[in-house]
Amino acid sequence: MPTETLEFQVEARQLLQLMIHSVYSNKDVFLRELVSNASDALDKLRLEKLRDDSLDADVSDLHIEIDIDRDARTLTVRDNGIGMSYDEVGQLIGTIANSGTATFLQELREAKDAAGAEGLIGQFGVGFYSGFMVADEVTLVTRRAGESQGTRWTSRGEDTYTLEPVGDAPQGTSVTLHLKPADPENQLHDYTSPWQIREIVKRYSDFITWPIRMVPEQGEGDEAPGVETLNSMKALWARPRDEVSDDEYHELYKHIGHDWRDPLETIRLQAEGTFEYQALLFLPAHAPHDLFTRDFRRGVQLYVRRVFIMDDCEALLPPYLRFVKGVVDAADLSLNVSREILQQDRHIEMMRRRLTKKVLSTVKDMMTKDQERYATFWREFGTVLKEGLVTDPENRDAILALASFASTHHDTEPTTLKGYVERMKDGQEDIYYLAGESRQSIENSPHMEAFRDRGIEVLLLTDPVDEVWADAVGEYEGRKLRSVAKGQIDLGAKDEDKGDGEREQRTEDYAGLLGWMKEQLDEDIKEVRLSSRLTVSPACVVSDANDLTPALENMYRAMGQEVPRAKRILELNPDHQLVKGLNQAYKEREDHTELTETAELLHGLAVLAEGGQPKDPARFVKLMADRLERAL
Ligand code: ADP
Repeated sequence: MPTETLEFQVEARQLLQLMIHSVYSNKDVFLRELVSNASDALDKLRLEKLRDDSLDADVSDLHIEIDIDRDARTLTVRDNGIGMSYDEVGQLIGTIANSGTATFLQELREAKDAAGAEGLIGQFGVGFYSGFMVADEVTLVTRRAGESQGTRWTSRGEDTYTLEPVGDAPQGTSVTLHLKPADPENQLHDYTSPWQIREIVKRYSDFITWPIRMVPEQGEGDEAPGVETLNSMKALWARPRDEVSDDEYHELYKHIGHDWRDPLETIRLQAEGTFEYQALLFLPAHAPHDLFTRDFRRGVQLYVRRVFIMDDCEALLPPYLRFVKGVVDAADLSLNVSREILQQDRHIEMMRRRLTKKVLSTVKDMMTKDQERYATFWREFGTVLKEGLVTDPENRDAILALASFASTHHDTEPTTLKGYVERMKDGQEDIYYLAGESRQSIENSPHMEAFRDRGIEVLLLTDPVDEVWADAVGEYEGRKLRSVAKGQIDLGAKDEDKGDGEREQRTEDYAGLLGWMKEQLDEDIKEVRLSSRLTVSPACVVSDANDLTPALENMYRAMGQEVPRAKRILELNPDHQLVKGLNQAYKEREDHTELTETAELLHGLAVLAEGGQPKDPARFVKLMADRLERAL
């Protein structure tokens, strides 16, 4: 087969350009990325051999090797791991599979400054491509375990790469960087210096569980120099807590979390007894782009007695903690354990419960001890955590206790439910909320009028999951959670309010109009009544206490469930001139046909005001335009 020249995928090309022009200031990390890939390749081979003993691969001395050639200015990172087939090289190295790529590149283009770009790159983790920060050409030679033929991949990081078969490739993968010319100004980043390589490995990759060896250059007259192992290979989670520095934890996080930035929080847990395990978990400081996509790879790494078993072990944490990264090392599991077995294992179930509680209590601690860190956490992961309110009743109270929400109490500072309850007015029994698209649209909604008027605090919920959990949870510490857009609202009498008698009289006064309007709007409305929540707007629509709101209906529909459209309730403001006038006209006239349009318009306005759409927008606009014309 001749040499093929192929084009990088567009996204890959863009990323390469970024690497070549080096948005990232700390170039040393390229070595961490290559070592990290090599370590993964060794893990994979060891596992595959464990599952299939007949695999033609030597696993007797799995290791990583770093070679430097000062004269040729090359640096090679070699492993004798799983390797890649010809097709795999094209797929894995020539393209970027991550679904968040498009968003990422978009944001990157919009990032104003280098620091912003660097942060974004960190979120993405560019792995193999980072070699192009320090090299102007990269050659990769690899052979997939079990296959006889190898592949050579070469690129200068421009638009294309070449692929060619090689007959005699050793097991595993070697990546050779042809380093950029030395910068005499900057001796600090000389990657042909064994001393510097030793330092970098120590700093970023010490915990890698495979030996990272450096073969010294053969100098003239030198005696055969010894091969040196650069890392201690100690699993951090097995070392005494106080012997491990924050930096070491952070480097491990970056390795397993594919993140270039430090984690927000490190969590250690040691369980002893019949089922022993150690856990080292991390809360990232930033939500990844694809957190809400279907193919988000969740879960922590599973080890059994220091031996890597699997990535993305989703059985160890519930889906709403899918952003948590880390390692769990269990003492008494079989090395051959499968995902299916894990899903059903009783010990794993206990472990998941314990780990879940530990993560939640850590966030709770953050909340009391470090407000700022908690705020970062909640901003990044609050939306995901709230899924737990629906899916994990056992921890519902714990999640409610550490949740915070935007509220009318403060423009920018969110409140906890506890804070809300403490501020509740005398006589106020329930916790009020309103869900919607944005803070602004909620605050301007007619449903808020009476609450604003009386200074009653309302939680402003803008995540799609909010309505779902608020509905499912129902109460907090004995206080009902009530949507201000649902059911009857009785905020008690205000001083200047009318007394009961007067109210009854008014209801009687409007009885005819209300009944007639209900008939006119029967298709969409199940009741027309006078409102106690409006002060400024003429009308609003509300949902019955037990009905789904339109937003929830839409959500269930989007999930493919059949839900009937619930008819809603139209409330009129009897203090509004338009409503008063309409009632007057209704009572005075024999023939009400001319008022039908007004009823229809009132309904349309109420729907618009809560951010909805009139059923027939074109007709609504026409009626409205006619009215305006007549009013000129
Ligand atoms: P990431 O490591 O984040 O997946 P990379 O660009 O570093 O991204 O690598 C892409 C893929 O190429 C890896 O997921 C892996 O499948 C493959 N790969 C990279 N380096 C090696 C290696 N040394 N041995 C085997 N496969 C490798």
